[in-house]
Amino acid sequence: MQTTEPKTKETIRDVWNKRPLIISGPCSAETEEQVLQSARQLAATGMVDMFRAGIWKPRTRPGMFEGIGAKGLPWLQHVKKETGLPVTVEVATARQVENALHFEVDVLWVGARTTVNPFSVQEVADALKGVDIPVLIKNPVNPDIELWMGAIERIAKSGTKQIGLIHRGFSTFGNTDYRNAPMWHLAIEMKLRNPGMMMICDPSHICGRRDTLFNVAQQASDLHYDGLMIESHVDPDKAWSDAKQQVTPGKLKEILESIVWRKEDTNSEEFHAVLEKLRQQINHLDDELMKLLGERMKVADMIGRYKRENNITILQTNRWNTIISNAFDKGESLGLSKEFITKYFDAVHMESINHQKKIMDE
Ligand code: PEP
Ligand code: MN
Repeated sequence: MQTTEPKTKETIRDVWNKRPLIISGPCSAETEEQVLQSARQLAATGMVDMFRAGIWKPRTRPGMFEGIGAKGLPWLQHVKKETGLPVTVEVATARQVENALHFEVDVLWVGARTTVNPFSVQEVADALKGVDIPVLIKNPVNPDIELWMGAIERIAKSGTKQIGLIHRGFSTFGNTDYRNAPMWHLAIEMKLRNPGMMMICDPSHICGRRDTLFNVAQQASDLHYDGLMIESHVDPDKAWSDAKQQVTPGKLKEILESIVWRKEDTNSEEFHAVLEKLRQQINHLDDELMKLLGERMKVADMIGRYKRENNITILQTNRWNTIISNAFDKGESLGLSKEFITKYFDAVHMESINHQKKIMDE
């Protein structure tokens, strides 16, 4: 068996800067054998940069497997020694941070159930004072990016220089196609607010199932994410946690090989010329749309005056329902989603109402 030297701090920095950065490993460390077998098979794919394993598992309901605990940390040291892969675990308390550091874990991650709680994030941050270890911060379970920002600020204040973000989706009530709805716009907003900060996607916790992992991973690549964290297990159906969403290292390799990693930019002059032309078309259409919206509001003003003269209310529900259902019919054939049409008409309607309110108050 091939044994590689453990990675030094310098090479971990290199791994951290690799794009796309691929992190994989089981949801939970279960046994030494399972951890080592997973790591060997993942290393053999040649496509994985970092090994993950949950040691302490925050579970929604008591009685589920809550992690093997500190006993599993030497297994990860073994993984490092044998495969050369740096290792990462989730931490939620000061004690867990101390344990992870003691057993030379390379990267820590803050889980979604911890990011929601400023007390816990602060405890982790305090335990990180004076320690130079990269930290990945998952989005909070609820769609509140201020909490996500707050967690970054707390960890950064501890002196942590290397901070990355993991987008793992947000919980929603009721059945959806996802275990955690991606709400891509929130992650994009975080990318805009934190330029240069690594953002990786965790399709496993977004999907909650195997068959859709590729689509979400491809979407992340299309949105210029910096990497992926995907759960894998030597025998996924028998996993002690998150069995439905884990894939074998072989399947992971297949998924990774199918993803097209696009670049944000290119030096090709032809590409830029074509793009510029198309963008001019967009600018022109946006101008037209603004003019038309202005015209529409003028008509709404006229209706408002007419309603005022005749003592009629601004809001007429029937009229509104007709507008929306007509728009759905037309929009469908134009390739516009119901979700977009609803949002668009809600905004236009609100603007019309505001215009008419002003007129009533004149
Ligand atoms: C995990 O990565 O196994 C995990 C518990 O994730 P999350 O914090 O995203 O639920
Ligand atoms: Mn998991």
